[in-house]
Order: sequence, then structure tokens, then C-alpha cells
Amino acid sequence: MVKVLVLGSGVIGTTTAWYLAEAGHEVEVVDRQPGPGLETSYANGGQISPCHAEPWANPATPAKALKWLGRDDAPLLFRWRRLDPALWAWGARFLLNCTARRAAVNTDRTLRLALYSRGCLQALRAATGIAYDQQTKGILHIYRDGAEFAQAEKAAALMSRLGLPREVKTPDEAVAVEPALAAAHKDLAGAILTPGDESGDAHLFTRRLAERCAEKGVIFHFDTWIQALELNGGRLASVATSKGRLHADAVVLAGGSWSGRLSRQVDVRLPIYPAKGYSATLAVTDAAAAPSVSITDDEHKMVYSRLGERLRCAGTAELAGWNTEMDPRRARLVAQLAEGLFPGAGDYSQAELWCGLRPVTPDSVPILGATKVPGLYLNTGHGTLGWTMACGSGRLLADILSGRPTDIDMDGLGIERFWL
Ligand SMILES: Cc1cc2nc3c(=O)[nH]c(=O)nc-3n(C[C@H](O)[C@H](O)[C@H](O)COP(=O)(O)OP(=O)(O)OC[C@H]3O[C@@H](n4cnc5c(N)ncnc54)[C@H](O)[C@@H]3O)c2cc1C
Repeated sequence: MVKVLVLGSGVIGTTTAWYLAEAGHEVEVVDRQPGPGLETSYANGGQISPCHAEPWANPATPAKALKWLGRDDAPLLFRWRRLDPALWAWGARFLLNCTARRAAVNTDRTLRLALYSRGCLQALRAATGIAYDQQTKGILHIYRDGAEFAQAEKAAALMSRLGLPREVKTPDEAVAVEPALAAAHKDLAGAILTPGDESGDAHLFTRRLAERCAEKGVIFHFDTWIQALELNGGRLASVATSKGRLHADAVVLAGGSWSGRLSRQVDVRLPIYPAKGYSATLAVTDAAAAPSVSITDDEHKMVYSRLGERLRCAGTAELAGWNTEMDPRRARLVAQLAEGLFPGAGDYSQAELWCGLRPVTPDSVPILGATKVPGLYLNTGHGTLGWTMACGSGRLLADILSGRPTDIDMDGLGIERFWL
């Protein structure tokens, strides 16, 4: 048993703490927020979606990004005008990953982890009885454009070959799967159902799991800023915080979009850039008009998850630095797109609007495992799929730290891939 400090109590830090405690380690978690899961893990799209394993960096993205340039309603917006060397460096690496070969490698890595993680979540749920407004009815991708749909069918076939069954549906079949799509039926070219995928409230899950962690003896230091990672003889030995110094045998960095800022203090460079996204959460007033199957609208890059009596609508990505301010135009766009697809589901003008920074790597694959600094481990960079990959990532970190063999191959999931 070793003493482990987990930096960050988002969904990634909290699941890491859980599996470390399960493995018998002494665990402490530090976070600047007053509770767990209050930053990017707070109001995300809710999807447990291995079906989204295709990376942002793929052959179609550069042309689409150019087309969207400067458009306020762009699903993916690069703000290149900014004098931001971090964005330019990240963007160059992103472009290198836009080949068909790299996209296939990155899909394989993401899918490997996402599928493993979905299984870990299901096992955790069965073992603990934890409830978080989950739905296990699958995820339905909808398409309006015939060419996009044809392309998506090819990607679906690849994923089916890689172990994720996906079913192609006609517009009639799509509406049979989710009757709340009736208003959109005339515009649909087709849909693809991933029956094994799920959805649920990531924040509720994180909060409830943190309570169970505490019951297992995990200590949470909330309202505590991490200020400095401190070396002793080349080894990470302690962390200075706003409430004093904390010592540990091992430190797991799970600071989301801020991980790179912390790790560079000990010369570990992480290619993680924040991609701001928005969500709108509304009370459902007409249950028949709101979906209960989780939906992805591929054209607008929007996702919809039914969380009990609420509907969570989320999407858009803006690469514009570590700015957490809400842009009212982009927030309203999310609510407008949602109302266009599911009119009458609730009062969209009263929706709770939120934004968060996805910690995105250039290849869309997170960074897990040991670093060149003895004692420092990474569990970060989960981008668009942090909720999907949380349980698997936490379990893998606990196995690595415990010196146990991991259940899946770790090839391509570590920081070493960026040294090549
Ligand atoms: C609009 C949107 C929709 C999304 N939809 C989905 C989805 O449907 N499915 C999915 O799988 N994923 C989705 N995601 C992605 C997912 O939400 C993230 O990948 C995930 O929340 C990242 O978790 P994390 O724990 O790494 O980061 P965070 O939740 O941000 O946690 C990091 C923690 O570190 C703490 N921290 C950082 N720096 C310091 C410091 N100096 N001192 C103290 N504490 C610090 C923060 O307070 C924070 O609590 C979405 C994201 C967005 C924005």
C-alpha cells in the first residue's frame, strides 16, 4: 500500500481515487472547488459513448474547419487570430493527425479504452448500486445529409469490426426507436443506433462516488488550490497547496484542462488545449416530446441525454484559450438547436446554461500512466469523452500504480507517443 495524492476531483480524479482505494491504497484528493465534479464534469452531454471514438482529427476536418471559420454557429471554431503559441503548436500536431492512417490508429486506441471503460462503469454500478439518472437504451446518431450518412455508415462498419456493434436505420426505423424524433422525420437521411451505449449525469455520479470514496477512507481537500509540484532528489515528493504542503509516495495528475499548467513546473509538457463547449439543461414538461434514447445530431455536433425529468442538450467547441466565460450567443445557439429538434419538450428560455473546457489532445486520445518524473502519474486529456472513459482510466491507473497487469493493452495511451 502506498500513499497517493490525486490532483483534481472531476470525474477522472474521483474515479481514480475510487479504484486506488479499492486496491487498498491510502488516498487523498485535492481540488480548488467546494465539491467534486464542479468544473468540466459538471454539465456535460451525459453520453457514455464509445460510438464517438472517431477522433476530431480526421481527413474531413481541415476542410470543414475552413468552411466554418469565423461563423458564430460553427460546431468547431478555431480562433486563429489570437496570439496564442499554445494553440498554434497544438494545431500543428492536430493537422498531422488528420490523415486516414492516423485517424484509424487513434480510433482504435480510443475505442479500446472507451469499451473497457463502459464495462468498468457497468461493473461499478452493479457492485455499488450507484444511481445517476442513467439510461441504458443506446445512442442514436441522426443524419440529414445523404453523403454524410454514407460516410458514417463506413465508420460504423469499421467500429463494428473493432468490437462495437452498430445498426444502420432508415428514417422510419429511427422514429420507431425514438418517437420524439417525429418532428425531424422529414429531414432525416438515416440514423445509426449503438445499442450498448448509455447516458447519465456525470456530476451526480461523481458526487455519489466521492461519498463512497469517503466511506472507504479517502480524504478530500476541497477549496484548496494546488500551487506547486515539488521535487526531492528528482522525485515528486510533495505538493504545495493554499492550505499547506501535502506529501505522498505517488501523485496522479487529473486536473483536466489545467493539467499542463501544473505539470510544466516539473518539465513535463502536455499537449492539452481547452475546447470550450456549452450545454442547456431544461425541465421536461412534455415527456413525449423529449427523447429518452440518447441522441447525437452529427451535422450540428450536438448531443441530447434524458436525465430523469431533465433534458441535457450539449455541443459546440471553441478553441480560444483557458477562458471560462460564457459567450451568450453560443449558449443560446445550443438551446435553439435543441428546440428545433425537440420542440415543446420544455421551456427552452428557462434552460440552465453552462460552459466547460474539454481537455483535448491533438489525437483525441487521453494521456495515462507514468512520466519521466518518478512519482508523477497522468490521468488527463480526455477531451470529448472524459465521462465515457473515466471508470476505465481510473481502473488502469490503479492497476499501474499497484504494479498489477492492466486488463487492456496500454500501447498508445501514454505520454511517450508525443516524444516520437
Ligand atoms: C459541452 C461538453 C459536453 C461534453 N459531453 C460529453 C459526453 O457526452 N460524454 C463524455 O464522455 N464526455 C463529455 N464531455 C467531456 C467531459 O466532460 C470531460 O472530458 C471530463 O469532464 C473531464 O474530466 P476531468 O476530471 O479530466 O476534468 P474536470 O472535470 O475539469 O476536473 C479537473 C479538476 O481539477 C481541478 N483543478 C485544476 N487545476 C487546479 C488547481 N490549480 N488547484 C486545484 N484544483 C485544480 C478543477 O477544479 C477540476 O475539478 C463534454 C464536455 C463538454 C464541455
